[in-house]
This record gives sequence, C-alpha cells and structure tokens, in this order.
Amino acid sequence: MDYLDLIIEYHKDNERQGPGSEEATLKALSYIPNINEKTMLLDIGCGTGGQTLTLAKNTVGHITAIDMLPQFLETLALQAEKNNLQDRITIKEMLMDQLTFEKQSFDVIWSEGAIYNIGFENGLSLWKKYLKDNGYIAVSEISWLTATRPAEVEAFWLDAYPEIDTIENKLAIIKKCGYTPVNYFILDEKCWTDYYQPLLDNAESFIKKYGYSDEVKQFIEEHRLEADLYFRFKDYYSYVFYIARK
Ligand code: SAH
Repeated sequence: MDYLDLIIEYHKDNERQGPGSEEATLKALSYIPNINEKTMLLDIGCGTGGQTLTLAKNTVGHITAIDMLPQFLETLALQAEKNNLQDRITIKEMLMDQLTFEKQSFDVIWSEGAIYNIGFENGLSLWKKYLKDNGYIAVSEISWLTATRPAEVEAFWLDAYPEIDTIENKLAIIKKCGYTPVNYFILDEKCWTDYYQPLLDNAESFIKKYGYSDEVKQFIEEHRLEADLYFRFKDYYSYVFYIARK
C-alpha cells in the first residue's frame, strides 16, 4: 500500500480533510457581496466537500468543485445527491495547477486547506486568470500568529511547509499577486479538533485493519505528532482565512 493510498483510506470517510468548520466557511462567505443565481464559484481542492455543501446550501450560485482524488469526489457526489444539490454542484477531477477552465470563468474562487499543495503564492498567481475582474478569492492557509515562536514548532513547520509565514507577510503576498485584501480571520480551535479528533479516534482500528505494519504505524504516528504539536503550540500558528478581491 503506498502513501497516497493510506492518505485516501484514512481521510476519505471524514467530512473534512483539513482544519475548518461550517461557521468559518459562512464567516468567509459573509465578506463576499452580491452572490446571485448567476454567480459561478470554484472550490479548489474540495476533498469530500464539507465546504462545498456549505457553499451550496447557503448561496444561490453554481459551484464547480475540483480535486485530484476521485475517491474524495465520490463522497461529495453522494452527499450532493442526498441533499438534492446535484444540479448546483459540478464535480470534476482536476489538478489545481493545471486547471482547464476558460479565463475569467468564475466570480468567486474558494479553497480551504489546499492551496499549500502548490504553494500559496504560486496558487494565487496561477488562479487569478480564472477569476473575473473584481471577483473574490477566499483561501485558508496555515500562518504564524506571532512574530517569533519556539524553535521546536518553527522547525517542524518550516520543514513540512517552508512557505508558512506571518499574517502580515501573507497579506503582502496577496497584494503582490494582484489582489486587494478584503478581510482575514484566524480559524478557531474547534476547526482543528473537528479535523484531528476523528483521525485520532480511528487510529487504532486503522492500524489493526492494515495488520499492524510498520508502514501504517509510522503513518499514524505522523498524524499523532502533528496533532500533539498543535495542542502544545496552538498559540503560535493556525489556519487563517484570507478573503481578497481581484
Ligand atoms: N477543502 C477540503 C480538503 C482539504 S485537503 C477541506 O477543507 O476539508 C486538500 C485537498 O487537496 C485534498 O482533497 C487533496 O486531494 C487535494 N489536492 C492535493 N493536491 C492537489 C492537486 N495538485 N490538485 C488538485 N487537488 C489536490
């Protein structure tokens, strides 16, 4: 079983594959005016679609949701049908750095806990052409909450994601990429526990399911360490939702 398969299997039955919540999605949405029946939204790296469903339920626009993993998209498709939202959600398997849409196709680009896969600055730059002029982008991104922080947490995240940076520097990158920041807010602790708790609850049975192999134990241990780090150092970092206009 390769690493990607483990990720898929461990995460595919959860509502979210990263920190977030319905409240946070709605708060970000509240900064975007004039969403109507003609509004086209693009949800990039939608995962199993926690936020996609929130967007569909709380707007009247049309949402296109993309992700590279068909196993996650299947869950979203089932949920969309179950909520009778299939006509307002278009689901496509696609790579976020190889989008195949026409330029200026969307009024709103959404991406929760996913842009880091291609880098914040790279993603913001690449995605801009798909946004109409004056369109909005709402992305969540891991960020430092303080100007300095303990060496242990700094070393961990600089290794895992070298682009982690302060909110101030993230806002500067947003501007550099040609957007005007509209607002930002820090995701609260519930967003993180909602993400980590189902994973931690499922850890032992997951290890059992894969025959107590060293590979799966190591994989689970990485999740435990990351969760543990969060609870010890949550004052120093979080996901931050950034909302900006093109
Ligand atoms: N937005 C969801 C999922 C976040 S996890 C949530 O907040 O719950 C990040 C997602 O990005 C995963 O679903 C993963 O499959 C997807 N992803 C990672 N790299 C990608 C890429 N290069 N192109 C498209 N999707 C990608």
